[in-house]
Amino acid sequence: MDMILNYIDQHMEPLCLLFCSIVFAAVCLLLYLRERSRAAQTEALVLGERGFYRSFAVNRQDFFMLVGRSDLHIHYISPNFEALTGLDTERVYADLEVLRSLVEPKTARNVLKELKAWDQTRELKLEFGYKAYGRKRERHGCVSIEPDKDRYLVVFNDNTEDYEIRSSMKRELEHAYQESQAKTDFLSKMSHEIRTPMNGVLGMLSLAKAHVRDPKQTEYYLDRAESLSQFLLTLINDILDMSRIESGKMELEAVPFDLFEVAEKLDSMFRNTTEAKNLFWDVQMQDFDVSRVVGDELRLTQVIINFISNAVKFTPAGGSVIVTFRQMHKIEGKLHLMIRVRDTGKGIKADFLSKIFRPFEQEDASTAHHYGGSGLGMAIADNIVKLMNGEIIVESEEGKGTEFVVYISLPIAEGEQRVPDSWKEMKDTAGEEDRKKAIEEFTLEGVRLLLAEDNDVNAEIAMEILEMEGAVTERACDGLEAVRMFEESPENGYDAILMDIQMPNMTGWEAAAEIRKLQRPDADIPIFAMSANAFVEDKRHSMEMGMNGHITKPVDYDEVRRLVGEALLK
Ligand code: ADP
Repeated sequence: MDMILNYIDQHMEPLCLLFCSIVFAAVCLLLYLRERSRAAQTEALVLGERGFYRSFAVNRQDFFMLVGRSDLHIHYISPNFEALTGLDTERVYADLEVLRSLVEPKTARNVLKELKAWDQTRELKLEFGYKAYGRKRERHGCVSIEPDKDRYLVVFNDNTEDYEIRSSMKRELEHAYQESQAKTDFLSKMSHEIRTPMNGVLGMLSLAKAHVRDPKQTEYYLDRAESLSQFLLTLINDILDMSRIESGKMELEAVPFDLFEVAEKLDSMFRNTTEAKNLFWDVQMQDFDVSRVVGDELRLTQVIINFISNAVKFTPAGGSVIVTFRQMHKIEGKLHLMIRVRDTGKGIKADFLSKIFRPFEQEDASTAHHYGGSGLGMAIADNIVKLMNGEIIVESEEGKGTEFVVYISLPIAEGEQRVPDSWKEMKDTAGEEDRKKAIEEFTLEGVRLLLAEDNDVNAEIAMEILEMEGAVTERACDGLEAVRMFEESPENGYDAILMDIQMPNMTGWEAAAEIRKLQRPDADIPIFAMSANAFVEDKRHSMEMGMNGHITKPVDYDEVRRLVGEALLK
């Protein structure tokens, strides 16, 4: 025991030292391992952050470069350069010229020009389109170059989206400006166009008044005043149509109608005029095995009438005007149709052809003087055909003639298709000719008319003219009174009713509907609307309310005579 204690006593110091060394080494190892793991964590964090910053930089829509001022050597290019331009950074480091490939040669020239003109005292900003390598669509960017002591800081910003938004806003603004300008032009042209004939009417009336003791002169001035008023009326109707088109309020109907009837109406409408002008006139129907289609008969007819009126107007005696309707194809329940109006008239100059569908355009200043018209008909026709998803093709040769061709497709109407055996016979029905003659010769002599009109001046004029024509007229001051007077009249006491539309207590439309409901044999008496509302829609509404026709104001009394004649000679 003593030996052991002795041994320990002698060796205590080195043992202690050994033990302490071991503990110290262990602690150091632990500390080292902890630090190493911390360092690894920090490194991972730093690497992660770098990745984050890198992706942040790459996803930005800009990059920057540092370029030496003296030697134009690139010192640095930020990482998203490649992502934005599609170019390899190393290539640009090697040669700055590579950047040229991003822009059109013209843009490159402009940029160089700006760079040369730059005084290098302030920042230079340039905007241009560029094409990122490998991308189809052109992008838009803005580069700003800021001079430093011995370097340039070049910052490039891709502002394609911003640029596109700005461009589209600019386009919209431009469009709105053009539209408003077009409206202003339209208004000023329109007021000029209206004032001119209006001035003429007033002038002619005052001349007529001044020559009242000279019946021949008075008649001459009144005739001129009448024809100017007619022109004014057509013009106002066209202007109203045009403004409806411009405001997008023109709607088309989709109702079954017969193409042969349309052709027949056009034929009889222009037969006398063309004959009087010594023009060869024909309406042809080609290749039809269907006759009834669905669409807006009135608007389609309006378009063709405009072409025919022009053809007749611009073709001198001895020439010809031929209208052709042709069935092209039948596809999926639709009839593809060609309607052509061909004349051998004066033709249209090539440079005017491109302007022919613009409102108020006429070939030259002398056109209105020689032929009248306002230049609205074609613009209206073009818009109507576009609303029908069709197209108009014009071909013309100066001095030789013109042809207007309309291509449209209309759904084929359901039910029976009545294609006439002989179109020629249908046109020239003998019975029809006799009836037409009888209508032409019809007078209002002895015809008993009920006139519903709330306006005293209009009523006075109408009654005086109708009575001059031999009619026997009674007046109702509103729709209600018209219904009452008809109810109290003996059966067949009136031959026809002329009915204003806008009247107090009861409108003309309501009055017509009331009369049609009455339980008496003559409740189907011919009723004609007489209204200042000239739109096709108003005419349509009159028919829907059971009326026999719609006469627009100012009233053409020849039309009244013809319509009453047509109704009474049935
Ligand atoms: P308007 O006949 O009232 O002048 P339009 O718009 O119908 O107006 O026609 C515009 C112009 O187109 C006419 O003034 C005329 O110069 C020209 N034009 C139209 N049709 C013909 C045609 N068949 N022959 C010659 N010129 C025509």
